[in-house]
Amino acid sequence: MNLLLDEWITVRRRSGLTERIAPVRLTTRGDDPAVEIEAPRADFRGALYQFLIGVLQTALPPRDLRAWRERWETPPSEQELQEAFAPFAQAFELDSAGPAFMQDFELLTNAESEPLFNLLIDRGSDSNRYFSKQEEAGMCISCTATALFTLQINASGGGRGYQTSVRGGGPLTTLLVPNEDCTGLWHKIWMNVRPDSRIFPHCNGEERSDIKRIFPWLNPTLIGGKQGSPTTPAMASTLQCYWCMPRRIRLDFQTVKYGNCDVCGRPSEKLVANYYYIPRGTDYKGAWLHPLTPYKSSKGAEEPKPEDTPDGGVGYKYWLGLVAGGDGRKTNAATMVSSYFSNPRDFFSSACIVRLWCFGYHMPKQQAKARCWYDSLLPIHDVEPEQQVRFIEAIERSLDVAEEAASALDKYVKQAWFKRPKYRGNEPAVPQSFWQRSETEFYRMLKRLADADLEREDLLIPLYRDWLLAVGRTAEELFDEWVLAAPIEDMNMARVVGARADLLRQLKTKGAAKRLWSAVNAFKEAKA
Ligand SMILES: [Zn+2]
Repeated sequence: MNLLLDEWITVRRRSGLTERIAPVRLTTRGDDPAVEIEAPRADFRGALYQFLIGVLQTALPPRDLRAWRERWETPPSEQELQEAFAPFAQAFELDSAGPAFMQDFELLTNAESEPLFNLLIDRGSDSNRYFSKQEEAGMCISCTATALFTLQINASGGGRGYQTSVRGGGPLTTLLVPNEDCTGLWHKIWMNVRPDSRIFPHCNGEERSDIKRIFPWLNPTLIGGKQGSPTTPAMASTLQCYWCMPRRIRLDFQTVKYGNCDVCGRPSEKLVANYYYIPRGTDYKGAWLHPLTPYKSSKGAEEPKPEDTPDGGVGYKYWLGLVAGGDGRKTNAATMVSSYFSNPRDFFSSACIVRLWCFGYHMPKQQAKARCWYDSLLPIHDVEPEQQVRFIEAIERSLDVAEEAASALDKYVKQAWFKRPKYRGNEPAVPQSFWQRSETEFYRMLKRLADADLEREDLLIPLYRDWLLAVGRTAEELFDEWVLAAPIEDMNMARVVGARADLLRQLKTKGAAKRLWSAVNAFKEAKA
């Protein structure tokens, strides 16, 4: 089974037909092109996108943006893909007795054997009780390959000898997604491929000179952990970030049997049921930079850290950092995203709506199991490069107001609930409810901002005013809902009334809201 040349990825075509294809046939049948990846699990879908992006970035990178646009207009033929993939195909054998895709260089047959289902990241976690209770036959070859890849690129720490992925455990992935109306699967993948120089700050033209530096499984594993050796960017190709291998695994193809795959349900003659595992795989250290993940810089840290998938998932609270990057909140958008947002006109001549798909597993620190999978789509608006500073400034002002309102709501709900709110633990559901309830309103404002002439403060004032009113209204409504939800006999009315009044006052007369209200009122007075 070769993961570039054989059929294993299920796609849906424009006509609705689904079929398994080989990556080398990604662009065939132009009359009924593939438009989407069909996967039995959300994490598999995210991983398969990254697999195809990694393959194209590795094997067929565009020389420059002009070449990128040509491929956008005219996807490569099967023949072209065939030729581009040929030098790398040996690294994509899944069931070879020699080097095998994402598996240890050694055969590990003396190692411990584990049930294949342990490859699933949410196995045993609260969000997935499904597989814990039934008899397990195994997985078809397609699900096996996807599960292995998904684990290696998301691997968490937790437990001795467990190395994390090159982006840490439970990284957040952000992909650009063009509107489906005018595009096929090719465009969704190509949207996240670039000339090397646009996404790898340290590329030197030697990225593909030795494929052993790209795919770690073509060499004996450099053992990590205590008394082991780390793998730094200088020791490998920049492209290894797409192909990291923190876990030493070898799939067991000796004990395969016939049956239905427990994940996708398809009948298969080769259900894989076990794998061999030993601890201490590749230990990624140093300034690795993955182009599909945002990074944060913090004081005192030598290199930027990859963003983890946050508890509760990604909402508009993160919009500025993830899309425009480099904001005061210290999040830098993924290099793939910033290379697009900084000048969208470099990419298309016609208007194309692009959104940001953010996904990943939230993994509590030092735990091997994921708590929850999150998936969300954020809007992106085209803003002329010369307008971007003002655009970002306007969003910062608006987000500051929201940030303070969310924490004020949290504070005063607790003050209404408890005699000694300070000694009570966190209740993340309260601020979370604010972010969720105000989301639609925020995106409406974002659209108006993107369409506005940002040079003219007078046009922004009504926008700010509407936003301030919406934030105030939302916080007030939610306060009432949360406090009225408490059992009536526990309620101290004087405390509730006091907390409510304090909240309303804070929303008008403190911090970011006060500053923005002053701007709005000053404008009104000047006009009068
Ligand atoms: Zn399957």
